[in-house]
Amino acid sequence: MSKKGIAILGSTGSIGTQALEVIEKYPDFFDLQVITAEKNAELLIEQALKFQPNAVVIGDETKYQHVKEALAKEPIHVYTGAEALCQVVEMTEVHIVLTALVGYAGLKPTLSAIDAKKDIALANKETLVVAGELVTKRAREMGVNIYPVDSEHSAIFQCLTGEFHNPIEKIYLTASGGPFRGFTHEQLKSVSLEQALKHPNWSMGAKITIDSASLMNKGLEVIEAKWLFGLKPEQIDVIVHPQSIVHSLVQFTDGSMKAQMGLPDMKLPIQYALTYPARFQTDFPRFNFMDYPQLTFEQPDRKVFRNLDLAYEAMEMEGTAACVLNAANEIHVAAFLERKISFLQIAEFNEYILKKVENILQPTYEHYVEKDREARDLALQNLGSL
Ligand code: NAD
Ligand code: MG
Repeated sequence: MSKKGIAILGSTGSIGTQALEVIEKYPDFFDLQVITAEKNAELLIEQALKFQPNAVVIGDETKYQHVKEALAKEPIHVYTGAEALCQVVEMTEVHIVLTALVGYAGLKPTLSAIDAKKDIALANKETLVVAGELVTKRAREMGVNIYPVDSEHSAIFQCLTGEFHNPIEKIYLTASGGPFRGFTHEQLKSVSLEQALKHPNWSMGAKITIDSASLMNKGLEVIEAKWLFGLKPEQIDVIVHPQSIVHSLVQFTDGSMKAQMGLPDMKLPIQYALTYPARFQTDFPRFNFMDYPQLTFEQPDRKVFRNLDLAYEAMEMEGTAACVLNAANEIHVAAFLERKISFLQIAEFNEYILKKVENILQPTYEHYVEKDREARDLALQNLGSL
């Protein structure tokens, strides 16, 4: 059996480091070809020395010389810059690209990988939110598979295995509800950055942790699900499930429902995306019913957590609306992380930008680039005038 050549875009992040833990366990199956990072040169160097990939990319050009010197004695190619990301995914030895980088930056390298006929293990949900129509169409044309890594979408994918010809009536994406579940609008007015960064069940990168607290993450996942599974907006529902044990559910046209369950651990969906259709033996902790005598479900509060509805609105608008919402959200989450705006202002300003930027239907790649730029500029201008 020939080994599976892997490229990890964003190997120093939460998903990237967990993917390396998975890869390390199966040296006869995986062949790590490429790892990349934006700024964390030290960890990238450490990973390169340990895993000996064919190539590494450090996004931040000011750190290139340092990485190059640290790896000078190794047979490892060192590149820098955003364009290099698009080139390394095209290498012949790469079979599958794990997109574990965060935000809009994932779009271009994902399209390059698809054009080079590489399968995608997709963690970077923003790519499908921004340009799901274009990305899924291109993947179909090139015969490329997109395997979901997001735990909810992996759950749906696992429920659909063996059912691909059976129509879906609807899906339920589960949400933990985040650290502010049950909070009123009044209570959200005074929440701090530290509180927002404390997710009850998952340890993740800063951006997705804030998105989880504001329910924007669930909104982005609704749009991600639309494109991954070819669903209409009314077929996608969200249910809050604070224990994060049921990772999502599919309801078929005969009324039967399938759920995928397990302890919350991203290594499982990462591994499944890389080994599909096989399941490899693991030593991950197993679920014990007696630790969870009650699994509970409740409606999300869409009035208080406005971002979820904004995502539904953008999805209904089609065109570049979700791209605009994503760009606005990236700017506003960054501003919240820098303590420049309050938690509630994230959704308030997202709505303002979504309404303000013109929506282009049936967009080309250039339209997405243009609207992403316009939304960011407008959001920054608005923040500047505060
Ligand atoms: P993270 O912030 O921990 O890591 C991000 C990685 O991307 C780092 O390696 C960083 O160097 C790189 N990166 C950041 N900005 C970049 C840029 N502009 N260009 C190139 N590389 C860049 O993030 P994460 O939590 O690992 O999340 C990664 C993606 O996976 C996100 O899209 C997130 O929504 C998704 N996701 C994460 C989890 C999770 O449990 N962490 C779960 C589901 C989905
Ligand atoms: Mg998720």
